[in-house]
Amino acid sequence: MLRLKDISKAFGNQQVLHPISFDLKEGERICILGPSGCGKSTLLQIVAGLLRADGGEVEMAGRTVENGGQYVPPEKRPINMVFQDYALWPHMTVRENIEYGMKRRKTAPGERKERLGKLQALLQLDGLLDRLPTQLSGGQQQRVGIARALATEPQVLLMDEPLSNLDVKLRTDMRNELAHLLGTLSIATLYVTHDTMEAFTLADRILVLRDGKIDQLAPPQELFERPATPWVARLMGYHN
Ligand code: ADP
Ligand code: MG
Repeated sequence: MLRLKDISKAFGNQQVLHPISFDLKEGERICILGPSGCGKSTLLQIVAGLLRADGGEVEMAGRTVENGGQYVPPEKRPINMVFQDYALWPHMTVRENIEYGMKRRKTAPGERKERLGKLQALLQLDGLLDRLPTQLSGGQQQRVGIARALATEPQVLLMDEPLSNLDVKLRTDMRNELAHLLGTLSIATLYVTHDTMEAFTLADRILVLRDGKIDQLAPPQELFERPATPWVARLMGYHN
């Protein structure tokens, strides 16, 4: 569904991503796990098309969307994205926020209504559709962010620390809900987090990113049983 080949990126003389290669399969969830500043958002933005890579290639659903010469802009990629700070349009109601992407993609009114109804139920948005984002709690805002991303029926869902701005209790609740939701949808997902528990709950495979390099890419169980590097071992809670 998604293939990265030798993707690299520098800002000035700081090499933020060393050549990175991996595949995301259909319906698979990969969590990109790593500390602040290791290049997670940069990697996700390159996949989204919000940022150009310096080198390498991105393929999506069998089509090249980025290499040296070729570049497909975000709105023409079969993706959608959920942001850490929700990034809802403040002047639009919940309904308008969710419908915006569908309208831009010229989804027919009947189909729009049907998807909105489904997402309203799926993300518990009853009674919220006519509110503005400022009239919502953080958890509700992020539900809207997720609904908005799903509304365009992306083939690849990109999530950049979607739960990081929520308080601890809510984060745990949302983490479990999200695991259930994503399990039901079985949509190919790249999920960025610095939270090991979150990665363990949500991922089919975890990609441990450190200083712009992949330390290990494996299912959670394998990471735990056979950490490939001392850094992964530390992440897994081994202290020697
Ligand atoms: P993460 O999401 O893992 O916290 P980022 O991908 O946001 O990390 O950033 C990786 C590194 O690249 C950081 O050192 C950050 O300061 C730097 N960086 C990110 N974006 C830019 C930019 N637009 N210009 C310069 N440096 C940047
Ligand atoms: Mg980030």
